[in-house]
This record gives sequence, structure tokens and C-alpha cells, in this order.
Amino acid sequence: MKKVYLETFGCQMNVSDSERVATVLESENFEMTPDEDSADIVLFNTCSVREKAEHKLYTRIGQIRKLYSKKKIVGVLGCVAQLEGETLFDKNPSIDFVLGTKAVGRVSKAIESVLEGRSKFLDVGEREPDYDWSVAETQKHSPYISFVPIIEGCNKFCTYCIVPFSRGREKSLPAPEIIRHVHKLHRQGVKEVHLIGQNVNSYRPKTSEGLEDFRGATAFSKLLRAVAATGIARIKFTTSFPRDFHTDIIEAINENENLCNWVHLPVQSGSNKILRLMRRGHTIENYFERIDKIKTSDRKISLTTDIIIGFPNESEVDFQDSLKMVDYCQFDSCYIFKYSPRIGTPAYQFEDNVSVEEKKQRFIELEERQRLNQHRIFKSYLNKTVQVLVEKKSSQNNFDLSGRTSCHKVVQFKGSAALLGKIVDIEITESKSNTLYGKVLNTFV
Ligand code: SAM
Ligand code: SF4
Repeated sequence: MKKVYLETFGCQMNVSDSERVATVLESENFEMTPDEDSADIVLFNTCSVREKAEHKLYTRIGQIRKLYSKKKIVGVLGCVAQLEGETLFDKNPSIDFVLGTKAVGRVSKAIESVLEGRSKFLDVGEREPDYDWSVAETQKHSPYISFVPIIEGCNKFCTYCIVPFSRGREKSLPAPEIIRHVHKLHRQGVKEVHLIGQNVNSYRPKTSEGLEDFRGATAFSKLLRAVAATGIARIKFTTSFPRDFHTDIIEAINENENLCNWVHLPVQSGSNKILRLMRRGHTIENYFERIDKIKTSDRKISLTTDIIIGFPNESEVDFQDSLKMVDYCQFDSCYIFKYSPRIGTPAYQFEDNVSVEEKKQRFIELEERQRLNQHRIFKSYLNKTVQVLVEKKSSQNNFDLSGRTSCHKVVQFKGSAALLGKIVDIEITESKSNTLYGKVLNTFV
């Protein structure tokens, strides 16, 4: 039996794609291995959002070729594969096959072709109409948490972003399929599902089938209510697009205990000038209106975001607007990225005129501001009780367990492995900027 090692870069969608790639391979009699040394086939599921991620791919292929004298088959999957296509073979002639974002279901065919002697196999075609979105128990990234894709691709074309090119146009999965999927996971004992997509709240299925019985001003809020009705313990969703974020989403959260109190709403910048250049489709005032609604909702909803610093023409004044925005929003957590020009995007034509040094300085300053805010927010949890889904043994200490709250904060605590997969009440006794610590009070489910 041939052994396959699969390495994944990038977002949740890539992790989810990799779970299904491994599922297909296992069903076709390949053996998945976490050990690259013993593997016959090495696969990289790639990310192209920033240049750094793309470089990592070439470095890793170089390492594989240098380290092992035995010839391993190397396949490149995902976003870089989709964008580069055939040119990847010129960039790195030691690559054996290239499979685009929608061709991953045909991974075993690609490997078989190479094993039969065909060199440089390429498939950047469309997804099969009957593509199977399910994941084998053995290939899930967690026994208790499952990713459920609800929408693929992106139509927004923010000027800096490669995703609409690497993942194509938005395509929503039919609601009955999603609801069936969640019911199945619930029966299998999964406690938490993450509805995933580049912009989940742009969900627009071809028909309203499966959503007729659910209220909501948008298909997405109807879907949230429909998924909540499955009775699964926890539902999270990411990523939300600010322009499409309407109050009906907050209403659905307020009404359904199992819709978690966490919203990830990437703002990207605090400056209207930069937001316009990014073609985000929202002003900072629009964004603040949404934040005000979230912050004043019945449930305490935590808020996280993405920010890009050093976008072309970002002046010191624009950057100061981003600092003010961070203070206004009081994010529970924030991913900060230095702008990375991507070939093929409209912003690639703009002069990348914020120097490396300025980007570095702004990154440090923004990170520090966020750290201070976050420290205060995390401290406010002291002596409070939170419900945590126990996910794993802590990586820092074998006797500790680690899990997340409904508001998506990491909590560490002492407890026996019997608690894994359970939802427990934890009293918070200590806080740091990124982690809460506490002790177990009760176990629920
Ligand atoms: N669809 C989501 C949205 O609208 O915010 C985000 C998806 S994108 C894959 C994840 C994050 O990567 C973005 O929110 C943005 O902050 C960052 N990103 C995308 N392109 C980038 C670029 N060229 N340089 C730096 N960061 C980038
Ligand atoms: Fe990229 Fe913008 Fe689409 Fe998000 S909404 S994936 S940032 S183009």
C-alpha cells in the first residue's frame, strides 16, 4: 500500500479540502502517514493569499528533494496550483502533478497517472457535479469539531486579494445538503460545527429548498436557524463580509443558544481612503454601525477581525485611523497582515510605496495596541464561569486540557482525559493576552 504525506498551508477551507483529499485517498487504498520520511507520495495543499505562503511551498519541495534520495512523488494542490497551472512545472521541474482547488476530488487519478509513468499531470478543471463533501472519521482534524463548507469562492474582488482568482466565483451549496451533513455529524457525536466559506453571509443558494420553514431577511440567517434546529450543541461560522452583515444574523444568534457568540468580521483598515482603494464596499462608519449592533445585542458576542497594514498609499494619518478604529471596536482578537502584492490583482498595479521598515513599525505598533486592549478584555473574564468544549490535551503541559469557549477563546485547565469532547463549566482564575486559565466546575454534554 502506497503511503501519502499531506501538508496543508492556509485557511480553514484548505484544512477542510485536505480532510476530503485524505478521505478519498484512504478509500482508494492509500495509507495516510504523518511521517514524510516513510511516504511514497508527498502532497502540498497550498495557499496563495500572501507571497510568504507561496515561497514556503518552493522551500518545502526543495527540502523534500534534497533530504530523500528515494524518489518520492510530489503533488501540488490548491490555490497556488490553480493560479500557476502548467507554469508550476517550469518553476519547479521536480513537481509530478498539479491539481487545482476544484480538482482535488480527482487526487487518486492524478497519483495513479504518475505511478503509471505519466509525467507532469495537470488538472485545474471544475468540481464533479456529484462531489462528495463528507469526511471519514479517521481524517477529521478533530473528533468533536467539524468544518462544513457552505459557500465556495468569492465575487468581491477586493483589490489586494487573489482569492476570487484562486477559488473562482461564489457558489452556495444547497441548504438540504448542508442540513443533512450537520444532522449526520450530530448523530456521530460531533459537538461543534463551523460553517465555512470566504464570505459565509453572502450565502445565496439557487433555490430556497430546505429553508422554507425558517425566518430571516437573508438566506444566511435562515440557514443559521435551520442548522440551529438540528440540535447540534454548537455552531460557529466564519468568515463574515461586513457589507453583507445584517442585523438578522444577530437576531438569529440571540434566539438560538447553540449559535455561538462569536463573529469574525474583517475590517482591513480604519481609513475610508484605504477602504476605497481596497474596494471593500464598506466605509468605516458602516462598519462601526455593525459593531454597535453586535456590541449591544442581548448576548455578549465576541468580535475578531483581520487588518492589513502598509497597503499602497497608506499614510501615517491613515494608519492612525486604523489605531483609532481598533480602540473603538475593542476586538477580542485580531489578525494583522503586512500588505503583500499579488500578481494579477488590481492593487498589483499600485506602487507598493510603504517601505518595509514602515510596515514593520506599523505592524509592531498596531499589535501592541491590540495586545493592550485584548489584555483588558481577557482580564474581564476573571472569576466568571464560561462553557468550554474540551478539545485536546494542552501542548504546553501534558496534564492540562485545552478547549474553546462559545466566544472562541482558548481556555486551559487541569482535568482528566475523560473530559475530552465534553462541554464543561470552567471558572476563570487567570488571564493572559491570548489565553484564559481556570478550573472545572461542572460537566454538561
Ligand atoms: N473573505 C474574507 C474577508 O473578506 O475579509 C477574508 C479572506 S482572506 C483569505 C483572509 C485575510 O487575508 C483577509 O482578511 C486579509 O486581511 C488577508 N489578505 C488577503 N490578501 C492579502 C494581501 N494581498 N496581503 C496581505 N493580506 C492579505
Ligand atoms: Fe478576498 Fe475580499 Fe473575497 Fe475576502 S471578500 S476573499 S478579502 S476578495
